[in-house]
Amino acid sequence: MISGSCCCGAIRFELLAPPTMMGACHCSRCRKLGSSVFVFVRAADFRWIEGREKVARYAPTAPFTYARCFCGDCGTALGEVDSDQDSFPIAANCLDDDPVVRIRFHEFVADKPLWYEICDDAKQFPGHPVRAAEVPPNPSLGAYTP
Ligand SMILES: [Zn+2]
Ligand SMILES: [Zn+2]
Repeated sequence: MISGSCCCGAIRFELLAPPTMMGACHCSRCRKLGSSVFVFVRAADFRWIEGREKVARYAPTAPFTYARCFCGDCGTALGEVDSDQDSFPIAANCLDDDPVVRIRFHEFVADKPLWYEICDDAKQFPGHPVRAAEVPPNPSLGAYTP
């Protein structure tokens, strides 16, 4: 069991199984929202404990396709916790326990600010990695535009 929560504690959820993978996105949207490191979870493994009604949503405008969820009280970035997909990304920053998975790739590295230095050996992609063979197929990533 892996717990997740926002900074103020109003929102709490748990994962019944470890996420399927972890990645880091260096695009400006993820950076500004404080959700650069994310994990993909299966909807079947994601369970709300409390605070679902506190979730605020920043809807995407074209060409972006991903809505951004955060706590309406404290602003903690949550990722796509309101997704209706079978698998969706949530922000790793709101996890309270070790998700077991580690960063497997860095995407949109071309947009990375100079002050952030990547200090691991995970694969790096200048943009989105969906066409690269190194990253396992994930239907949720197919339509991904940060
Ligand atoms: Zn909160
Ligand atoms: Zn991003």
